[in-house]
Amino acid sequence: MNQHTHSHIVRFDAVEKTYDGINVVVKRLNLDIRKGEFLTMLGPSGSGKTTSLMMLAGFEMPTSGAIILDGKPIENLPPHRRNIGVVFQNYALFPNMTVGENVAFPLQMRNVSKADQKDQVRSALDMVQMGQFTNRRPAQLSGGQQQRIALARALVFKPSLVLMDEPLGALDKQLREHMQLEIKHLHEQLGISIVYVTHDQSEALTMSDRIAIFNDGIVQQLGSPTDIYENPSNPFVARFIGDNNALFGKVHSVQGAVCHVRLDGGEQVVRAKASSSLRPGARITLSIRPERIHIDAKGDNDNVAAAVVEEVIYLGDHVRVRVSALGSNDIVIKVPNGSLHSSAMTKGKKVSIGWSQADCSALQ
Ligand code: ADP
Ligand code: MG
Repeated sequence: MNQHTHSHIVRFDAVEKTYDGINVVVKRLNLDIRKGEFLTMLGPSGSGKTTSLMMLAGFEMPTSGAIILDGKPIENLPPHRRNIGVVFQNYALFPNMTVGENVAFPLQMRNVSKADQKDQVRSALDMVQMGQFTNRRPAQLSGGQQQRIALARALVFKPSLVLMDEPLGALDKQLREHMQLEIKHLHEQLGISIVYVTHDQSEALTMSDRIAIFNDGIVQQLGSPTDIYENPSNPFVARFIGDNNALFGKVHSVQGAVCHVRLDGGEQVVRAKASSSLRPGARITLSIRPERIHIDAKGDNDNVAAAVVEEVIYLGDHVRVRVSALGSNDIVIKVPNGSLHSSAMTKGKKVSIGWSQADCSALQ
């Protein structure tokens, strides 16, 4: 094994998948998963996340390309010989078995002795704080408890890699957020690698070391939550992660990382951050986060515009103010509750808005 494969537990090498021979649902996927990392595949429904995970688990075969696990191609290894734990939303517990029997199942498959099974089941159940439920049946547990058992079953044989496909999708918001932290803490304790699939961007931001954003079978961007939020590489990513204001225009001039953009239907020139090499005349989308726009800001704003308040929505921790400005009637600003302007915003009010060049990405 060379040094390069050592730092990665998984490598997708030009992996393609078509189910029907016509529609390619995963397109030349190249993706390295680092040892010990929590990597999330995030994207809309139908973007190829589950298919990618199923190929890694061994339940689907790539149409072409290779998947390398721990330095070795795995196309000829059946799922139970890949030493990968799986928690899928539709991979339910066995209803006719007790909790203990469910968790012991992967150990039976691997011919672990009865005595060792008992010890390992106990420690896996303790890990998810379900030690006292060994003799219950799944139907006697809440949704969150069942998901903990599924987690114990995936971890009981001490895999170095665990795959999770929308494991919290069926839980209500509060329990889901609680379980997100529990899974994140287990990951930190155990030092395993996790590949996690979700379509929920806040779940991805909460849990991940890195996020791969999928759309239409293609990874649009791979990076840390901060990277992806602060420096989206294209308009799709900017729209998909976080709230976003999009304005359209053409590049007027470029000076290093600063570019000047002339907005459509107006004379206004906006100073923005160029994400890649942009040429004058190129059509671009400006992306500005709602919390980075300031109301009646003076001095340190690179960009200032006149605006009229169209709508004010009180959301507890912040006020969501929609304004018209720069030829758009849909610019959204998040004003922290308790700040100078949060209570002063009313429909029809004339304000000035401002934001800095560094908070405004010009994307192609
Ligand atoms: P995601 O998990 O991102 O929602 P999937 O990987 O499930 O996406 O699906 C990607 C595409 O492949 C979709 O268009 C879906 O309809 C199609 N697809 C998924 N599984 C199958 C299958 N078993 N047979 C045929 N088409 C499938
Ligand atoms: Mg899916």
